[in-house]
Amino acid sequence: DLPELTEDDPMAIGLGYKKDTATVDGAVQTKHTAEQSCSSCVLYTSKSDTAGTCTIFAGKQVSATGWCTAYAKKA
Ligand code: SF4
Repeated sequence: DLPELTEDDPMAIGLGYKKDTATVDGAVQTKHTAEQSCSSCVLYTSKSDTAGTCTIFAGKQVSATGWCTAYAKKA
């Protein structure tokens, strides 16, 4: 399995990635809404109930409940 993306990964920090969308600071991330998470993002491919891959974070797995500033809702 691919390693899990951690919040302290330099790229994760750059994109404000959080493993749990509920922990995103709305005062900082003004475009964030509570219903946004990796599982509904167009860049996400589910690999299990809890994690999947993201085209931005190659070689890592992101959390299904995660979020970052590149979030774009799946059509
Ligand atoms: Fe999650 Fe989408 Fe950000 Fe990738 S781009 S980490 S799938 S919110």
